[in-house]
Amino acid sequence: MVVALNDEEVLILNTLLEQGLTNGVKNLRIIGIEELIKLEPNICRDAKSALIVPSAGIVDVHRFVIALAEFAAISAKENGAGKVLIIDRDFYLGGILQQCIHPGFGLKKFGLELTGPEYAHRLIKKILYMEIDYIVDAFVLEITKNKEIFLINSKIGVRKIISKAIIFAMGCRERTRGSIKIPGDRPAGIFTAGTAQRLINVDGLMVGKKIVILGSGDIGLIMARRCTIEGAKVEAVVEILPYPSGLNRNVQQCLVDFEIPLFLKHTVINIKGNKRINKIIFSEVDQNRKVINGTEKEIECDTLLLSVGLIPENELTKKIEIEIDNSTGGPFVDNLFQTSREGFFACGNVVQVYDLVDYVSEDSDLAGKGAAFYVNGKMKSYNNPNKKVFIKKGKGIKSIVPQVIKDYPFLDKKIFP
Ligand SMILES: Cc1cc2nc3c(=O)[nH]c(=O)nc-3n(C[C@H](O)[C@H](O)[C@H](O)COP(=O)(O)OP(=O)(O)OC[C@H]3O[C@@H](n4cnc5c(N)ncnc54)[C@H](O)[C@@H]3O)c2cc1C
Repeated sequence: MVVALNDEEVLILNTLLEQGLTNGVKNLRIIGIEELIKLEPNICRDAKSALIVPSAGIVDVHRFVIALAEFAAISAKENGAGKVLIIDRDFYLGGILQQCIHPGFGLKKFGLELTGPEYAHRLIKKILYMEIDYIVDAFVLEITKNKEIFLINSKIGVRKIISKAIIFAMGCRERTRGSIKIPGDRPAGIFTAGTAQRLINVDGLMVGKKIVILGSGDIGLIMARRCTIEGAKVEAVVEILPYPSGLNRNVQQCLVDFEIPLFLKHTVINIKGNKRINKIIFSEVDQNRKVINGTEKEIECDTLLLSVGLIPENELTKKIEIEIDNSTGGPFVDNLFQTSREGFFACGNVVQVYDLVDYVSEDSDLAGKGAAFYVNGKMKSYNNPNKKVFIKKGKGIKSIVPQVIKDYPFLDKKIFP
């Protein structure tokens, strides 16, 4: 069903009806508001009429790519990919950058210390200038091996898009209390640090007054400073490792400068509270991260923020059986960020969790180039299995990206005879 929300869209429905009839679509018809309400009782109040297409969904053919990352889309377009579409479930482009209002973005890429929204703005300006298509508030439900994309949007409903190449850039999600299984009561006041960041920076809602943060990754450290600036008392940051896991600059600027205590080799072992959390119990751990009995301490608080790791969001990737590297949580990729399935590329935090957006941009640039290369039919000869080198991890190396090197013409050095 295609719904018209104003007079202009009613005219478009007529054109669509004519086109559909000419193309032999069966049972196509326009319905008025009364029938529309009967069929869709929750239809938006502005609806005027609708075109019913009982025999099919809407198909939008994109010569090239659906990308979820701005940089990849720009690179794809610049490298001759043709029609490019960015799809994002959020209400705006820019992803996580839009909620990161602290400075520290773009030192490498632009030689400037930008905030997240400033960094995103530079890319969005370019997207508008290059007239790259995008759709926001659109959740991708499924992607098939044939590169069909099914998305849902509150205005246009379910839509099917056919593409020639796809770049995955879905970022990552945060581990929750459930993921790390903290025992205790189930009160309100427990948030992941990224959710708290969005509530404070985007929605203007403060999360609490006496706060404990579990995990000293960058999001946890930045939120310690943010909550302090907003008037809360951050009682402690508790970290299970013997060292902080975020960047050194964030330890200095977010904890030391604000005199926020950091408890290394400690973890939260219990949560107390009836309706709202009122206390956490935490303990020291040994070198195997086992709790040392008798070291329990407690802190009164009304909020616990969890910054205990990110997981690349690869549900769509796994569904079409793209090979995943367990050490990164993302797909195996080659040096143009093509995954194990031809024509499917990946970049950004969906490949591995990156500390700095500059590196995300570098990889996205390559993925965009790769996808353009693919849709222009130049990739075939490079998918020769004899012409690739697998990179293996040495001792002490946790993960490697890319995991495969192919003889693409973009390499600085020729490594193949
Ligand atoms: C708190 C915090 C602080 C940081 N600080 C810095 C810093 O100081 N300096 C720095 O350089 N970097 C920093 N970074 C890192 C950097 O911001 C990220 O690595 C980078 O922005 C990630 O980009 P991405 O495109 O991979 O993912 P994201 O920005 O997460 O974008 C992924 C997008 O995909 C969308 N999506 C996912 N699934 C679907 C679906 N099914 N359908 C439709 N859309 C979907 C999401 O809504 C999201 O908008 C920070 C990150 C965080 C979280």
